[in-house]
Amino acid sequence: MKYNYDDIKNPEKIALMRRDLTRLARGIRVSTIPEDASLTAPQSARDDHVLLGDKMVKRRRIVLLTPMCSAATCLMCPLPNEALDSKRRPIMPEEISAQFDSVMKDADDADFDLLTLYTNGNFFADAEVPPVSREHMYKLFRQSKAKFLLVESLPQFLTREKMEEAKNIIGNKKLIVAIGLQSASDLTRAISVNTTTTRESFERAYALLKEFDFMIQAFLMIKPPFLTDDEAIEDAVKSIQYLHELGIQNPILCATRVAPNTVLALLNKEGKFRTPWLWTIIEVLKRSAAQSPNAFPRVVISELRKESNADSEVPKNCDVCSTRTVDAIERFNEDRNMEHLMSLDHECKEKYLKEKEEEYNTVGQIPLEDRVSEFLEKHRLPEKTI
Ligand SMILES: [Zn+2]
Repeated sequence: MKYNYDDIKNPEKIALMRRDLTRLARGIRVSTIPEDASLTAPQSARDDHVLLGDKMVKRRRIVLLTPMCSAATCLMCPLPNEALDSKRRPIMPEEISAQFDSVMKDADDADFDLLTLYTNGNFFADAEVPPVSREHMYKLFRQSKAKFLLVESLPQFLTREKMEEAKNIIGNKKLIVAIGLQSASDLTRAISVNTTTTRESFERAYALLKEFDFMIQAFLMIKPPFLTDDEAIEDAVKSIQYLHELGIQNPILCATRVAPNTVLALLNKEGKFRTPWLWTIIEVLKRSAAQSPNAFPRVVISELRKESNADSEVPKNCDVCSTRTVDAIERFNEDRNMEHLMSLDHECKEKYLKEKEEEYNTVGQIPLEDRVSEFLEKHRLPEKTI
């Protein structure tokens, strides 16, 4: 296979490609938040039950409306489009705090173990969540009955100062930080995801979290842009193994959906990307169970359901077996019984295997760098618009 797992052989060329990918990604993005959206109410809030590690816990899940991800470079990520364009509509720290307060009024009596605070960006980036708002939220979390606070951030925003700030207020309660590594391959992260996360920044953030007795929740992709399903399987299995060797278990696998206003949507439109088959997800789970039996990966189910992602193309098999296959993956998430996956079969699997073979003989023979170069060549922006 021509797909190089780790190597960045030509860093200068890669840097130029990343510059162009970033321009393209940022140029396509559009905030979908309505002009008249309230700045003092969160985007959503609900109480439910989720798996934390291997335990089902009660959760309060809040999505705050905050300024867009400071990076916003990833080719597939829809989240920056679901945040505020603060250049057009600035938001004050007290408005962010007010969003939080509006759903934490009953927190003294409410019974939940886990408080999840999503921002569709980076909780530790001061430009997105001001320090005064973070401090305010830490204080209310400490007073609540919840034991765990889960937030998300790119690793470069996790600093010693930010960890001290959290520790000083929340004390012995646990902070969990969700961080997208996406892939353990340097080349894949660099040009097929175009993320700002590096292996170094990820490992440094993980070491800091451990030092403060906090926890990490690592996210990996199944099928980054420009990859074939075969390559996606190899990429995910190796990435799970890499995390496991670092000491990180329970990675969260996010199979790629094609969301609007992303570079990936453009690739998809041109017939250069298809969402992963569910068979590919099954194969990742089977192979990683054999290779890293104690890694315990889980798949994000909400990304696989069309009804939760009406504007997107979601990973799928054929119309007949998609729903039951997603249900089987969900059951596997809950009890880790491989039988749910082993017993799956349907005639579309033949088509899947044939398609993979064709892909291997065509796209699979072109080095990843060349695939991305060719795409960029086609979408070169006129200099004056840059
Ligand atoms: Zn089928």
